[in-house]
Amino acid sequence: MTRTGVGYDSHRFAEGRPLILGGQHIPFERGLAGHSDADAVAHALTDAILGAAAAGDIGRLFPDSDPRWKDANSLELLRLAVAHIRTAGFRPVQADITIILERPKLAPHLDVMAAALASALGVAPSAIGLKAKTNEGMGFVGRGEGIAVIAVANVEAA
Ligand code: MG
Repeated sequence: MTRTGVGYDSHRFAEGRPLILGGQHIPFERGLAGHSDADAVAHALTDAILGAAAAGDIGRLFPDSDPRWKDANSLELLRLAVAHIRTAGFRPVQADITIILERPKLAPHLDVMAAALASALGVAPSAIGLKAKTNEGMGFVGRGEGIAVIAVANVEAA
């Protein structure tokens, strides 16, 4: 039986922070604000696999009140979430992710990001769909205030 989960995350751009998405450092003049490394791609995917397993959410597993997760590597949080759903009897099968931002252009980075996410999930890179698009200038994303990420993941009984 395959089960599907959805995850969403958004983060505000901030000066003086590195931009980390999908575990990769993306060259850009700003990064994302957050308690961890603010990797919104890893966060949305983490919530998708946790949701598919009905195994909680990222805020419950890794509360931002906990100093352990300050500046945490979110790919490692994703790996811990995968271990968490394994204890609940599930393993990731496949995921599809859409990143919504105006700048920077992510096309040159998508393949390496997908490979890193696949490794964290324990699936083949071909099992990760990863896309980036703009918000056509509309809303907080359009004004360049932040980014949003939507992820869908499938898990099956391990
Ligand atoms: Mg987040």
